[in-house]
Amino acid sequence: MIHTSLSAEEERECLDLLRELIRLRSVNPPGDEAAVALALGRQAEAWGLETGLTSVAKGRPNVHARLAGHGAGPAVLLSGHTDTVPPGEVPWAHDPFSGDLADGEVWGRGAVDMKAGLAAMLVAMAALARRGWRPAGDVLLVGTVGEEVDCLGARHLRDSGGLDGVGWIVIGEPTNLDVVPAHRGALWLELVARGKTAHGSMPQLGVNAILHLAELLRWLGERRFPYLAHPLLAPPSINVGTIAGGVKTNVVADRCVATVDLRTVPGQDHGALLQEVRDLAAELVSTAPGLEIDVRVTNDMPPVETPSDHPLVETVRTAVGEAFGAAPAVRGATYYTDGSVWTDRGIPIVIFGPGDDRLAHQPDERVPVEQLGRAVRGYMAVLERLLAGRD
Ligand SMILES: [Zn+2]
Repeated sequence: MIHTSLSAEEERECLDLLRELIRLRSVNPPGDEAAVALALGRQAEAWGLETGLTSVAKGRPNVHARLAGHGAGPAVLLSGHTDTVPPGEVPWAHDPFSGDLADGEVWGRGAVDMKAGLAAMLVAMAALARRGWRPAGDVLLVGTVGEEVDCLGARHLRDSGGLDGVGWIVIGEPTNLDVVPAHRGALWLELVARGKTAHGSMPQLGVNAILHLAELLRWLGERRFPYLAHPLLAPPSINVGTIAGGVKTNVVADRCVATVDLRTVPGQDHGALLQEVRDLAAELVSTAPGLEIDVRVTNDMPPVETPSDHPLVETVRTAVGEAFGAAPAVRGATYYTDGSVWTDRGIPIVIFGPGDDRLAHQPDERVPVEQLGRAVRGYMAVLERLLAGRD
């Protein structure tokens, strides 16, 4: 039988856990995730789940919880990250680390991205265990460190065998409880131009790094990188995020640095894109003796895509539809996730979680309490459908 109802106490447990996680600030940088990891581990243990910590870096553990399966079937990995972005400079209506409950919503940094998802996934595991449900394969929950900066925890999990035996991945990032099987990728580049300095009154004697880099950025903006339109995702985009160069008005700048954020769709190869940018830089350099340009990758997150007709997407849609009494929307996400560092393993990934993704990284981040219980019921239904447990 499918368990999709939740007791009032279980709804309360999810709410209390979320508020506790928000109060345990885990802002990254620097990435103070330990308290959140410990709290999740402690709670998982109290609910009778197997649990453990893996050290990823000093004071930064991934936290694991496991509901053991009765067979040797593939496992489901429920994935969340324990870090948050900083609260920002704009004042909030409620203290970002209060976990305040007001007007039916829980407020705080991480409410949406993604402590609500973590709390709901853990409560779903506990609720199923409590009902005596034994899955065919393991249910694994991992709270990773570092997603907001470099996906350190996700890389560690991948490189330490943490994905072995995993057949499906469900990431609890905020989707407003829509089903999200795809997101764009990100390729961040740092472009460093070096020229030759000279007196500002005799610019013809120098090589101006600012002007040349500006030219390259213009070329990049006009370049039409090939891609195939994706039914759920916005087209690729490019943004020049920062530029800095020069020392003084009357000096020819011999150095200029810009950073560029390319967002990619499935099918675009980041290695090929990087080569295209390097080729453009080389073309510019060939026209300007004394100019050098280095192109360096600072972040490389491939797009994630599970086809909409893949059995995992179908199963999640059906399960969530059953739990909610209405079919969920299927759409893409604008952000990227830990899933980017796992794509090369070929494990299908779906993102499904509580909270409005438009509030992620914003002031006044908050999640409706009503979505918490719905998320728990959604996860329960998904797990039961995927792991065909028996009572
Ligand atoms: Zn997130």
